[in-house]
Amino acid sequence: MSGEPEPIQGIHIYCDRWCERCAYTSRCLQFRLEAEERGAGDALQNFDALNLQFWQEMGVALVQAMRLIREIAAREGIEAEDLQGETAFGELPGSLHRDAREHPCASAALVYAGMVNEWFAAADELTDTGESLLTHPPHVLEESIQVIRHYHYFIYPKIVRALEGRLGEKAVSDRGIEADCSGTAKVVLIAIDRSLAAWSLLYGEYPAQEDNTLSILLHLDRLRRSVEVVFPEARTFIRQGFDAPHP
Ligand code: SF4
Repeated sequence: MSGEPEPIQGIHIYCDRWCERCAYTSRCLQFRLEAEERGAGDALQNFDALNLQFWQEMGVALVQAMRLIREIAAREGIEAEDLQGETAFGELPGSLHRDAREHPCASAALVYAGMVNEWFAAADELTDTGESLLTHPPHVLEESIQVIRHYHYFIYPKIVRALEGRLGEKAVSDRGIEADCSGTAKVVLIAIDRSLAAWSLLYGEYPAQEDNTLSILLHLDRLRRSVEVVFPEARTFIRQGFDAPHP
């Protein structure tokens, strides 16, 4: 289409499918096709720059989240080695012979989904409005809760997909599958990073829930480091558009 920026080939392959928060809707062919199918306009493209800024701010929140986790760990007497990747969720590389869904990382992702449900159920019990925090968040925490909601059930299936690819790749030693595993694992890591940042913004806002928030932060941090151990190439994987320079 004339006047529209050139699409970035394959940008949607390793995205988080959160078009409303994506900074590249104007460059994504998949988004254009789906918008045309829905008869939707290109209004979201006007938010690309704002979304870019949003994620940059969440990046700052992630740095603060990591600092918070270290402070909490020191305060709670959690040993430094317990925060190292190798010890997180047991003997990860050796457990790759198992079914992907039984892998410690997949189990931990499932546990995380349950922890989120429990956290919000407990928070809702403490409110006197009768409205769920998930669907009626206070304005100041709306964006953080949106982030938690979006990735709540996103992390587990993506981890399973990356692990399934890794299991298959070990069997057939295929470079394409290996790259796909790393790309998928990178999306998982981004989802975990953003969730960590969002939870850190909730920490302190709900004193009655502080212990539960802390458990979630530590659990996610451990999961993040475990995924990095199992998929050592994930962090450096280049996703078209998001990580690679584009004209
Ligand atoms: S790259 Fe962005 S616009 Fe395209 S499908 Fe993914 S989230 Fe949506």
